[in-house]
Amino acid sequence: TRTEIQARLDALRDEIERRNPAQPEFHQAVREVLDTLAPVLAARPEYADPGLVERLVEPERQIIFRVPWQDDQGRVHVNRGFRVEFNSALGPYKGGLRFHPSVDLGIIKFLGFEQIFKNALTGLGIGGGKGGSDFDPHGRSDAEVMRFCQSFMTELHRHLGEHTDVPAGDIGVGGREIGYLFGQYRRITNRWEAGVLTGKGTGWGGSAVRPEATGYGNVLFAAAMLRERGEDLEGQTVAVSGSGNVAIYTMEKLLALGANPLTCSDSSGYVVDDKGIDVELLKQVKEVERGRVSDYAERRGASATFVPGGRVWEVPADVALPSATQNELGEQDAATLVRNGVKVVSEGANMPTTPGAVRLLRQAGVAFGPGKAANAGGVAVSALEMAQNHSRTAWPRQKVEEELARIMSDIHRTCQETAERYGVPGDLVTGANIAGFERVADAMIAQGVI
Ligand code: GLU
Repeated sequence: TRTEIQARLDALRDEIERRNPAQPEFHQAVREVLDTLAPVLAARPEYADPGLVERLVEPERQIIFRVPWQDDQGRVHVNRGFRVEFNSALGPYKGGLRFHPSVDLGIIKFLGFEQIFKNALTGLGIGGGKGGSDFDPHGRSDAEVMRFCQSFMTELHRHLGEHTDVPAGDIGVGGREIGYLFGQYRRITNRWEAGVLTGKGTGWGGSAVRPEATGYGNVLFAAAMLRERGEDLEGQTVAVSGSGNVAIYTMEKLLALGANPLTCSDSSGYVVDDKGIDVELLKQVKEVERGRVSDYAERRGASATFVPGGRVWEVPADVALPSATQNELGEQDAATLVRNGVKVVSEGANMPTTPGAVRLLRQAGVAFGPGKAANAGGVAVSALEMAQNHSRTAWPRQKVEEELARIMSDIHRTCQETAERYGVPGDLVTGANIAGFERVADAMIAQGVI
């Protein structure tokens, strides 16, 4: 029965917390999924088979390694590298690398776990994985970043391959880092294996629209949610957090669709710009000069104000797109957004909204798009990059944009229909979790106990 199944899932959750101490983000991600699976396990006896969910929450392989490197003064630093190969039932492990001082095993496991369901939702035959390091690229020279990437890849390369495990970028890893990582992989293996990394430069195996894909995709997803309410993005004010790759291309797409992105942020605070964020200036400050959002405010003039220490969620907006990092939008922020009349919240980052904040938003009737559906555009275009690499072709920009739009609209419809099928219409969290779970579970069952 449904109650027995829920009791079993609760016991499994407790067991996972016991077996993986001090990994709060991983616990949070697992709990969020296990809390939504009871209806599908009750409806489909093959899923209730003991051992299926138990296998799903244990990574297939976890790799931890030393990354020694020398700074420009010749001093040796030692960082820790990670790759969690979580689930390969649907395809090679796929997921980004994060370079950030907060990275530890628990963070990589939460990201890898989310990636399983996200990748399944794209329908493109990719398993789930994630990696990274506690290396902090901030304030490091190009040469230091290059030496770090080379050392990182010197160890990681033995675990990778176009049919095995295919990393990409995440926080702290963009085109520059993917270039250095690819160069070292090629040198060590003596293979020009384009499909081993995604997010490459367009001149050497990269896909058009890959840098833009996560942000563009989330905006398309938010537009689909607004459409359910009989609205579109034209004229809507939008609070966007972050100022990295996801945030920048979120704003670019918002502007293209006639919406007005008012904010951006980094760890030092946020900027509110009454005229709407000037994306070209933000790109110049962040991507070319590798500066801070306070530099943007200084250069922009009277319309922009830098608020040190604050959060963008205090700025009234019709739509909120958290695009910075995990747990950046808490219960108080959600309450503020609701008070200011927010209609749609859609996650560009991975798990940016705390469980309490999600509950509060949903109770207030705000449409909520979970990251594993809403931000799947990035990894979806990564899978398209792999397809182009395998066929030794490069698709025109327009073709990739059309595919991305089709994939985002398929994901939205799948989540919507699955939520309806399980009696919770409009609950895209449950819809995304169950739809992703069904695809992975079917493949795992067909492939036996491995
Ligand atoms: N880091 C991105 C994500 O969170 C992209 C991963 C990829 O392209 O493999 O989905």
